[in-house]
Amino acid sequence: MADGFDYDLFVIGGGSGGVRSARMAAQAGAKVAIAEEYRYGGTCVIRGCVPKKLMVYASAFSEAFEDAEGFGWTVGPRSFDWAKLIAAKDREIARLEGLYERNVGAAGATVLKTRATVAGPHEVRLADGKIVSAKHILVATGGAPFVPEIPGAEHAITSNEIFHLPALPRRILIVGGGYIACEFACILNGLGAEVTQVYRGELVLRGFDADIRAHVSAEMQRKGVTLRYGCDVMAIEEAGGGALRAVMEDGETIEADCVFYATGRRPNTEGLGLEAAGVALKANGAVAVDEWSQTSVPSIFAVGDVTDRAALTPVAIREGAAFVETVFNANPTKPDHTDIPTAVFTQPEIGTVGLAETEARALGEVEIYRSTFRPMLATLSGREEKMLMKLVVTKADRRVRGVHIVGHGAGEMIQLAGIAVKMGATKEDFDRTVAVHPTAAEELVTMRAPV
Ligand code: FAD
Ligand code: NDP
Repeated sequence: MADGFDYDLFVIGGGSGGVRSARMAAQAGAKVAIAEEYRYGGTCVIRGCVPKKLMVYASAFSEAFEDAEGFGWTVGPRSFDWAKLIAAKDREIARLEGLYERNVGAAGATVLKTRATVAGPHEVRLADGKIVSAKHILVATGGAPFVPEIPGAEHAITSNEIFHLPALPRRILIVGGGYIACEFACILNGLGAEVTQVYRGELVLRGFDADIRAHVSAEMQRKGVTLRYGCDVMAIEEAGGGALRAVMEDGETIEADCVFYATGRRPNTEGLGLEAAGVALKANGAVAVDEWSQTSVPSIFAVGDVTDRAALTPVAIREGAAFVETVFNANPTKPDHTDIPTAVFTQPEIGTVGLAETEARALGEVEIYRSTFRPMLATLSGREEKMLMKLVVTKADRRVRGVHIVGHGAGEMIQLAGIAVKMGATKEDFDRTVAVHPTAAEELVTMRAPV
């Protein structure tokens, strides 16, 4: 018994952050329980990163078949079976779910399959009404898709449903211009759907480097996504025969077989008992935490999407690990949120780390190195697609502050470029690194003159 409590740690939520924290704390010798109300693995494994990436792979084959012909292949008739993909994806997700659940149990944690809420600074209420006590509580409940309240919103689906549609919609309307909207516009376009994406702003992916945004927007449109800017859906109506009609601000209508909202996510704090226990929330409902992931109630911590810091799986994992180091391993550790490398799995893919050009300019004078070129794969395939590479360098200290890549393998490349940026590499460090030839990545070390 932990200091008179049932547990040293009770973790609410079995996703990326919760599972990592529970495993590490149990391995450190703490008495741990974890509760998950839906499926172990959380958003990332069940209805996020992993199934999404499998669908990205599936989608990319349509271009690979076309490209193969330029290299001498004759590709026979091809067709795509949505149900077969979904079934294969579901088998893999079930396998991973089992692994997550078993591994946290094998580390020594008590694994509960139930909803849990906070009943006090040291108390957790399970769905059956039972109260258990814990010296520390970790809230790792993630987030959920947000759909604006418009007439007919009930007809819209979100990323939760897209992974289980019975069939690939022939015409799909996607609302939003962020990560999920752009990734799924490309996935569904590649699989053969007719995709219209509407975004209220001027250019997709607000917050990313301007060159990346423009490049990806142009490439997505060239591949067949109809992108409409500066407009929004006001209402969704049934159009008969299972079709839907989206009414736009200007009264124009767009018919589709499916309307997919990807308009952001909200932290899962509703009905969690946090306010009653004295835990302060931010205006958007996220749990307010300090740099140690500690809430306004000292015994309650929170990590991952529910804290609305950077909604990415590796960040949730890092925050969880830092919490365990601090509280259970006597090794005070703050999660580091600077220079987080990230990929957007659009087609073409984005890899980015560090500052956008405009952000770096706020620090002082900058040099910009930029190259747009046709990758080797596109020569024989005859594809028009261009790659973009960009380095943002602060002139005074020569440091590479931002690396931005669009093209095949950008996600893989940025993981490694991220190490250089994190280490404070200068432009001269990039220059003295010998190129790997013939690759696309060699462009990162061969750009000589600033633009
Ligand atoms: P989650 O993984 O959401 O886990 C929270 C868990 O808590 C859930 O399983 C939920 O059921 C459970 N829960 C909630 N309330 C309770 C309760 N009261 N009691 C018990 N259990 C509860 N990130 C990347 O880094 N790369 C990607 O490519 C990527 N792709 C994504 C694609 C999509 C479509 C989406 C939606 C997200 C994607 N993300 C990606 C983001 C990533 O999934 C999240 O940042 C990550 O899952 C956050 O982990 P978490 O532990 O905070 O929350
Ligand atoms: P994002 O925050 O990335 O994008 C939300 C989009 O919806 C923005 O374009 C936003 O517009 C728009 N929007 C917001 N509210 C409204 C509204 N009321 N009406 C119309 N449009 C609206 O959220 P996502 O849902 O795409 O993804 C959530 C998070 O999950 C991401 O931020 C990311 O952290 C994570 N994720 C990571 C992935 C990866 O690592 N590859 C993949 C998928 C998700 P505006 O820009 O004008 O505000």
